[in-house]
Amino acid sequence: MRFDILTLFPEMFAPLGESMLGRAQGNGILQINTVNIRDFAGNKHNRVDDAPYGGGRGMVMQAPPIYDAYRSIADECTYKPHLIYMSPKGKTLTQEKAIELSKREHIVLLCGHYEGVDQRLIDEVVDEEISIGDYVLTGGELPAMVLIDAVSRMLEGVLSNPESFTDESHFSGLLEYPHYTRPPVWREREVPEVLLSGNHAEIARWREEEARKITAIRRPDLLKEKEN
Ligand code: SAM
Repeated sequence: MRFDILTLFPEMFAPLGESMLGRAQGNGILQINTVNIRDFAGNKHNRVDDAPYGGGRGMVMQAPPIYDAYRSIADECTYKPHLIYMSPKGKTLTQEKAIELSKREHIVLLCGHYEGVDQRLIDEVVDEEISIGDYVLTGGELPAMVLIDAVSRMLEGVLSNPESFTDESHFSGLLEYPHYTRPPVWREREVPEVLLSGNHAEIARWREEEARKITAIRRPDLLKEKEN
C-alpha cells in the first residue's frame, strides 16, 4: 500500500521509519512518501498561506500550492488518487474506517496548518475529511501518522501474528480483556488462576467475559451497538 503525504513539515514523519511500520516499508508492504507543499509555493518567499477573506484571526493555506503538490502525484497515476484531508471537522476515525481504508492501494493525506486550507481546494479535490477526535491540534501531521499507523497494521504481513488484531479493542466491537505475563505473583498481586490452568476453552470463556465486563463499565455504548 502506498501513502503520499502533502505537508509543510516532512521531517515530522521520521517516527514512521521505526518499529513495525519501518519493517513493513523495508519489506515492501508499505510505501510512505512525503511531498513538501512549500516546493510548490511559486513565489520567492516560499509563502503558502495568506490572510482570510472577510477578516478574522490566523492565516489560511492557499489552494494553488496544495493543488500543484497533489497534481504532482495525480499526474503520474491512471486513476484519481484518494485524497483525505486531516481535519477536526471530518468524520471521526474508527477501527471500521481503518479496515475500510486498508483495502485501498493508494491514499494521499493532506495535513493542514494555521486556520486550515482554502475551502475551494477541499471542494475541488478532497474525497473525504477525517478527524482523529474532538479536539484541535496545531497541524495535520500527527493525525496523518495516527491514520497511517491504524490503517497499516491491518495490512497482511505488518503484524507478526495475523490473528493478533481480531481480539483487540474495537475490532469485534468490545474492549479487550486484560493481559498478564511473568512473574505469576508481583507485589502480592496474582495472575488469575484460569490463565495458568492450560484449559484453552476456559481461558477463552474467561477472556470473553472480561471483555464484556470492561466494555460494560467503560463503554456501554459499544455493548449496546454490538447487541443491536
Ligand atoms: N480552524 C480549524 C477549525 O476550527 O476547524 C482548526 C485548524 S487546526 C489549528 C490546523 C490543522 O490541524 C487542520 O487544518 C488539520 O489539518 C489539523 N487538525 C487539527 N486537529 C485535528 C483533528 N482533531 N483531526 C485531524 N486533523 C486535525
